Amino acid sequence: MYFCNMANNEDIFKKIIAHSKEYGFIFPSSEIYDGMAAVYDYGQNGVELKNNIKAYWWKAMVQYHENIVGIDSAIFMHPTIWKASGHVDAFSDPLIDNKDSKKRYRADVLVEDHVAKIQDKINKEVEKAAKRFGETFDEQQYLNTNPRVMEYQQKIEAINSRFYAALGKEDFADVKALIEELGIVCPISGSRNWTEVRQFNLMFSTQMGSVSEDAGQVYLRPETAQGIFVNFLNVQKSGRMKIPFGIAQIGKAFRNEIVARQFIFRMREFEQMEMQFFVRPGEELQWFEYWKQERIKWHLSLGIPEKKYRFHDHDKLAHYANAAADIEFEFPFGFKELEGIHSRTDFDLKAHQEYSGKKLQYFDPELNESYIPYVVETSVGLDRTFLAVLSHAYTEEKLEDGSERVVLNLPPVLAPYKVAVLPLVAKDNLPEKAREIMDQLKLNFQCSYEEKDSIGRRYRRQDAIGTPYCITIDNETLENNTVTIRDRDTMKQERISMDKITEVVQARIKSL
Ligand code: ATP
Repeated sequence: MYFCNMANNEDIFKKIIAHSKEYGFIFPSSEIYDGMAAVYDYGQNGVELKNNIKAYWWKAMVQYHENIVGIDSAIFMHPTIWKASGHVDAFSDPLIDNKDSKKRYRADVLVEDHVAKIQDKINKEVEKAAKRFGETFDEQQYLNTNPRVMEYQQKIEAINSRFYAALGKEDFADVKALIEELGIVCPISGSRNWTEVRQFNLMFSTQMGSVSEDAGQVYLRPETAQGIFVNFLNVQKSGRMKIPFGIAQIGKAFRNEIVARQFIFRMREFEQMEMQFFVRPGEELQWFEYWKQERIKWHLSLGIPEKKYRFHDHDKLAHYANAAADIEFEFPFGFKELEGIHSRTDFDLKAHQEYSGKKLQYFDPELNESYIPYVVETSVGLDRTFLAVLSHAYTEEKLEDGSERVVLNLPPVLAPYKVAVLPLVAKDNLPEKAREIMDQLKLNFQCSYEEKDSIGRRYRRQDAIGTPYCITIDNETLENNTVTIRDRDTMKQERISMDKITEVVQARIKSL
């Protein structure tokens, strides 16, 4: 077999979206009513893959760490929590409208895209030079000495420093001036006819109970972390937890994103898998490094090549952090944030102590003193992990006989179905025998049973949803209780004894 020459990344991305729908992974929400922007539903296969990702994360974080426990806090929380956390005042994006197209953009995204274009020019120069110099090429030296590249780099630095300074001072007039000076045009209208830049809060709010007006205003949580902070003492006391310890949570979060595109990468309702690790003040940066390494190991344990990931250390830190890094993944639309690892200091607990009037301190028996712990957070998007896994798994292959197949090379541990049970034909007592096998296997694995269509078509369908093993029942099975087991990736088949199926499959589905 060889891999098809996959046209370009945009085409592949469109194909992945179409494949997700055709094979029951992801549907646009409310589709029969023409859908809703940036809201998606997970279908019958999607929910299995998603649940498997959650279980894989939970196992790595909670089951394998004796000092991490989980919680499941409510989506609705006391509105003052979002005052204390800074979300009411500061959880906003700068937005700008184009007066001609009436389209709304994030000012920071417009500037970042512009910078990315300059960066592309640098990359192209480097590529050209690498070809020209061959093996003697020293990329770092080239970047440091080539006048054209240095000029591009200076441009990027100048734009970034002015932009972040303007944002920091909330000088939105200067953000607009910068967009104008850089000659950034609206991709739809092509014009530079921009409105002023305004701040837009990303939290959704709604009313709780029958209280009138603002009194009953609550927010849909924009992150799961605050549910952990406000339960910090509940968990510490009831679980008799000793610092350092962590609290993990998987749950929905809601953000009224302005630029909502790129499929499930940026949604208005999504899920996060977060863990807050409580440590002694002064030890947070060591733990920050520790969790950076632990988390990248987790991603790599899924078998996706290392070159698809990179760290991005933040220069500009959020109001609560003293160190922050993203793990970025190379999605079909480029490297983008998949997970954030933040050293959040004692910002959150201190703020909740102040706003609630309740002490949120820990008595450290070894030091014989009480303090507000520092926190290191790991926060990964469940849907973004789903998209990373899915987009890496999607493969188009041309087979030796000239036919083509689409296969999802999902890590077996995450695949929606581990095994498909397929009688070769739907007669001659094969379905009965196959059912007998199915009834055994389904006690251990999520299995799929199919008897319609030719065996070749059934294999293709299983390939398309990423089922790693197909068990085929044929006449020989009736004679000597053996079946064939077909491997999704190699398409090779071997004969094994019926009573060994569970053992063989279990051994091949590599866990953590
Ligand atoms: P971005 O810069 O892409 O908006 P962020 O830095 O605001 O992301 P965090 O607040 O650090 O994101 O949230 C932690 C994780 O939650 C992110 O790394 C991402 O995987 C996920 N996430 C954040 N916003 C969304 C969204 N709108 N849709 C899907 N996942 C999201």
